[in-house]
Amino acid sequence: MKHRQLRVNELVKRELSATIAREINFEGVLVSINAVDVTPDLKSAHVFVSVLGPATGTSVIDKLEAHRPALQAELSRHVVLKYTPHLVFHLDHSIERGARVLEILQDIDKPTFEKIGKVLRDHQHFAILGHVRPDGDALGSQLALALSLEQLGKDVRVWNEDGMLEKYSFLPRAELLTKPPATAAHVDVAIALDTANQKRLGTALAAVASAKIWINIDHHLSNPGYGDLVLVDVSSPATGEIIFNLIKGQGLPFNHDIAENLYAAISTDTGSFQYPKTSARTFEIAAELVRVGGLDVGKISQQLYENYPRRRLELLRELLRTTRFGEHDRVASFSLSLRTAADLGVLPEDNEGLIDHLRAVRGVIVAVFFEELAEGKVRVSMRSKDEAVDVCAICQKFGGGGHTLAAGARIRGRLAEVEEKVLEEIHEVLKRRS
Ligand code: 5GP
Ligand code: MN
Repeated sequence: MKHRQLRVNELVKRELSATIAREINFEGVLVSINAVDVTPDLKSAHVFVSVLGPATGTSVIDKLEAHRPALQAELSRHVVLKYTPHLVFHLDHSIERGARVLEILQDIDKPTFEKIGKVLRDHQHFAILGHVRPDGDALGSQLALALSLEQLGKDVRVWNEDGMLEKYSFLPRAELLTKPPATAAHVDVAIALDTANQKRLGTALAAVASAKIWINIDHHLSNPGYGDLVLVDVSSPATGEIIFNLIKGQGLPFNHDIAENLYAAISTDTGSFQYPKTSARTFEIAAELVRVGGLDVGKISQQLYENYPRRRLELLRELLRTTRFGEHDRVASFSLSLRTAADLGVLPEDNEGLIDHLRAVRGVIVAVFFEELAEGKVRVSMRSKDEAVDVCAICQKFGGGGHTLAAGARIRGRLAEVEEKVLEEIHEVLKRRS
């Protein structure tokens, strides 16, 4: 479609929307114009209308039809065109259809939600686990589910190989989350949250050897679906969102502390409600957490994002010194050696999120962070700004995984070697694309 025609469509849409809002009372029904299509000869304009609320679509169309002469008159006054197009109103079902698709999707998962709800009610000893090098989503989701089960009178252990991180220790009841014991404990049900594969549970895996039932709740694309009950929703931007749906849908206990943990999980894993999987549903959930949980958003955000130790900034300064750009500035990377980490006295958790400085640069499509680990491996963290560049697939080549736009891997080798190997692979992917 030509640019001029698009502009006319947009002008007519804007003018009609304003006039309808001003002139017609639909009595509590939300009527909106989704699109306008003016024919090239300007003689007619097809107007696609969506209706939300207590009214039939046809009654709305009838009402618009009755106001057609007045709407056309207004249009001719405000939009200068050779002809005033004849308005033809159509019902657009796309919003309704969208809502129904969501319902259907939820229906598909419904039996799993119900089975999980039943297992939670019918057993007594639980262990809730999350991935190594946990993030806000893993820790917040673990604590939230644990607190809900605790309210049900269950015996709940909350384990993570790394224990509670200093920076998340403000989370309500953070003390519940500990490092796993070295020997297996009495556990009926093991629940893995936010963990793409069982290996990423690290030392927590051995502690739940006695578990009879495994529940796997996650949102990673690369999750193969291990466990007896699998709830992997890759459309969710955070595991915290799935836990919210589980708690709400199954009528499990909910309170302020649970709300705060879930809010932290969702806020951190959506990059403060910015990443592409953030949906209207995400905001609705956040709103409910804030409203029903009585949350202080300013305070939580400050604890999450404005409470870093000074050494994190010093680390960033060192990382920026190592920054490299390649592929016509479409790839940006930096790296951290064991030596620099030791000199600065940084903790592994200090670097979470620093990769965002690379991703935020205009033109950068792939951002990479290389971190030398003690065991002769390098941890690679990767981000993409383009759905067509799937960093999960790149990381899977090196034995890792994650999401399309955020993934990682642990690769054996020396820092410089791994850097070259991985950057070469990214180069190949970008070359194939362009
Ligand atoms: P991050 O870069 O923040 O460590 O991780 C980005 C995403 O990739 C996270 O969702 C994380 O779970 C996943 N991820 C990171 N490292 C690995 C890995 O070694 N293996 C797998 N399967 N996933 C990873
Ligand atoms: Mn997550």
